[in-house]
Amino acid sequence: MVKQTIQIFARVKPTVRKQQQGIYSIDEDEKLTPSLEIILPRDLADGFVNNKRESYKFKFQRIFDQDAKQEAIFENIAKPVAESVLAGYNGTIFAYGQTSSGKTFTITGGAERYSDRGIIPRTLSYIFEQLQKDSSKIYTTHISYLEIYNECGYDLLDPRHEASTLEDLPKVTVLEDPDQNIHLKNLSLHQATTEEEALNLLFLGDTNRMIAETPMNQASTRSHCIFTIHLSSKEPGSATVRRAKLHLVDLAGSERVAKTGVGGQLLTEAKYINLSLHYLEQVIVALSEKHRSHIPYRNSMMTSVLRDSLGGNCMTTMIATLSLEKRNIDESISTCRFAQRVALIRNEAVLNEEIDPRLMILRLQKEIQELKDELALVTGEQRTEALTEAELLQLEKLITSFLEDQDPESKLEVGADMRKIHHCFHYLKKLLTDKKIHGPSRAPSSKVKDQVNQGPSTEEEYKKLREILQQRDNEINILVNMLKKEKKKAQDALHSSSMDRGEPRRSQSSPFPPGNPEGLRTLPLSTPTQAQDSSVIQYRSSLLHRKTGVREEMSLGRQEAFEIFKRDHADSVTIEDNKQILKQRFSEAKALGESINEARSKIGRLKEEITQRHVQQVALGISENTTVPSAPDPMEEKLRLQLEEEKRRYKTMFTRLKALKVEIEHLQLLMDKAKVKLQKEFDAWWAEEATSLQDATETEGTRSLQQGWWGTL
Ligand code: ADP
Ligand code: MG
Repeated sequence: MVKQTIQIFARVKPTVRKQQQGIYSIDEDEKLTPSLEIILPRDLADGFVNNKRESYKFKFQRIFDQDAKQEAIFENIAKPVAESVLAGYNGTIFAYGQTSSGKTFTITGGAERYSDRGIIPRTLSYIFEQLQKDSSKIYTTHISYLEIYNECGYDLLDPRHEASTLEDLPKVTVLEDPDQNIHLKNLSLHQATTEEEALNLLFLGDTNRMIAETPMNQASTRSHCIFTIHLSSKEPGSATVRRAKLHLVDLAGSERVAKTGVGGQLLTEAKYINLSLHYLEQVIVALSEKHRSHIPYRNSMMTSVLRDSLGGNCMTTMIATLSLEKRNIDESISTCRFAQRVALIRNEAVLNEEIDPRLMILRLQKEIQELKDELALVTGEQRTEALTEAELLQLEKLITSFLEDQDPESKLEVGADMRKIHHCFHYLKKLLTDKKIHGPSRAPSSKVKDQVNQGPSTEEEYKKLREILQQRDNEINILVNMLKKEKKKAQDALHSSSMDRGEPRRSQSSPFPPGNPEGLRTLPLSTPTQAQDSSVIQYRSSLLHRKTGVREEMSLGRQEAFEIFKRDHADSVTIEDNKQILKQRFSEAKALGESINEARSKIGRLKEEITQRHVQQVALGISENTTVPSAPDPMEEKLRLQLEEEKRRYKTMFTRLKALKVEIEHLQLLMDKAKVKLQKEFDAWWAEEATSLQDATETEGTRSLQQGWWGTL
């Protein structure tokens, strides 16, 4: 068990104007924890705050100033959490702050540059890298992506939906079992075997979210998003499974409204715009107060879902995102105050281990076999489940003579064999019941004789036992089969949903064969030319469009309008930039692939040369009738050194190619997303234009009609 308080970090978003800098200072010199001081400008301090306080100081685990890179955020905040998740503990990282303070930038990343990728893609990359390194365990990874808007949960990864509004998505509901464990109904889990698959899921969810957003619902600032990585691991042969979840949470904007007329109380009395953040605060307050028995988790969906992460079995980290500009001073102070309260909460994380019944059956079966083998070794005879006919006969003879023996001291000795002992008891019981039924008139000895002579009855008993044994065997088989089928069904479902979602996309759009390092080696030779590149990209986005319900067919006029709209749109610069980078990366990958192939053939040639050289030396030794010289052949040494060097080169290039592959995939996904966004904005613009055009024509028509009237008068 690991006990610790929730870790709090602060991140300050870069400000546009330099003049804002006097507003805060970071004190890192202190030995204990660094602190952030927010300095109220004179005018604000006089006007708003009646106690005229001039500055506020807040302590954080660490404070990341404006120039902090995404890499540093990952290394210092997310990596330690990811590590504990790999060790089997639950983890949560949530970003809290007002709209536009950098929550999404921190959790998911920027939409433009590869280097801007945030905690989610970096964590996925790290986790998969670690899983690959660790061959001592078998790991399984699943992804889920939940959005909570207006107290309703939506599954952003539901493969069936063609959502155009949030309400079209299937609703996710919270269920609580008798042990107060939370279960989410309708939230799909998707297996991801590679970083690439997991990344595809992240982008699919983000795109669905974007499509479903309307100017009215402003989902991106008013909803919470929870991206969850579910990890399970077990050692080969062990029946114990470890499960851990990592929630990466992008909360709704924390902005508040002031109670009017309260003036100086503004900083303490402001109310959240978002009701569920209000409930989150209530839970945090309750948890930070000692001896509170009731924690109001049930008040909102978000607090129910995050129940374990707040005051439960989890290692939790909060990132307070701050946009420290003059007009945001009060919001920033609220955010810091919230963080200080969160820092008081103590969590107790435990390892989540459980026994897998399927594995338990297998283990018990193995144990039985081992015991049987051991027994056979001791007794020197192979033990089957049933006694042989000869053994039974022998046994019954023994029983008969035992019963007939008048000596009270006589013993029935069958040896230390439970099967035989059981059979004796069965047999005796049968004799006794028979005696009861037929009455005590007949002498037991004669009865026994009858029994012994009645071959068929023993035969029957034997058969019955056999049948029971057979039945038990069948039961076990059926059980095992059922479990197998269940497993296959679950796999098929996951497989087919991943086929729906990703497979065709990957195989057609990505120049890399999925998950196959062999394929990767030969890839750059078949890398599409640049002309093909764009068609590949178009294919990808058309798929994304289809996925997200954006219509493809456009009239010629509309197409032209779209072209112009696109040209003038700010995002098109990003798309173009990314296209250029993508082209560069493609050709880099191609060149690298060629070098890799060359290196591979060179390695082959060197190996061949070394073998030949070796054979020559041996042949020389034989022909000169001397043994092979013990001193190493300098020529062969040289070849070996060359081979090692070439192998190193090959490895370096191969690693680089793999990294390039991830980058290309990421860039393509960024572009897809930007394109869908562009299309969405164009559609909205087009619809608006069409309406206003119609209005204009109608007014025009009325006017000419009126003119007509006037003319006749
Ligand atoms: P939020 O999710 O809190 O509403 P965003 O993450 O969307 O805010 O950030 C708002 C804008 O500021 C985005 O355009 C984002 O790219 C930019 N931004 C935020 N944080 C940073 C940062 N640390 N460096 C550069 N740009 C940032
Ligand atoms: Mg956001």
